[in-house]
Amino acid sequence: MMDDCIFCKIVKGEIPSTKVYEDEQFYAFKDIAPVAPVHVLIIPKKHIAGIASLTEADRPIAANMLFVIQKVAAQLGLTDGFRVVFNTGEKAGQTVHHMHAHLLGGKEMAWPGV
Ligand code: C5P
Repeated sequence: MMDDCIFCKIVKGEIPSTKVYEDEQFYAFKDIAPVAPVHVLIIPKKHIAGIASLTEADRPIAANMLFVIQKVAAQLGLTDGFRVVFNTGEKAGQTVHHMHAHLLGGKEMAWPGV
């Protein structure tokens, strides 16, 4: 846990959030500024700054995270498809430096969207 990290504070309940899913390793909540009808953030409870900061010790978290995304997408009824985005680094638009997957769905999406 990092004292000055807003997502660590969300995990600890110090900042309110709309919880969608929780288990021992992960927490998922609705993004406060949604860009799609479904916009959920999935985060590991452990503070990891982003994909670029993953270490070998984080391998189980990295692997499990995809299965949590799968579970949350199914829970939210995203049977027609969904998009998963990991903004990594400032140039890619990462503003919160606690690794998170944006799970986006509920609309037609164009590609590429960069
Ligand atoms: O990928 P990026 O770092 O830009 O994403 C951070 C996301 O966290 C934003 O979509 C923002 O709306 C969301 N956020 C949130 N609740 C907060 C602070 C940020 O849902 N308290």
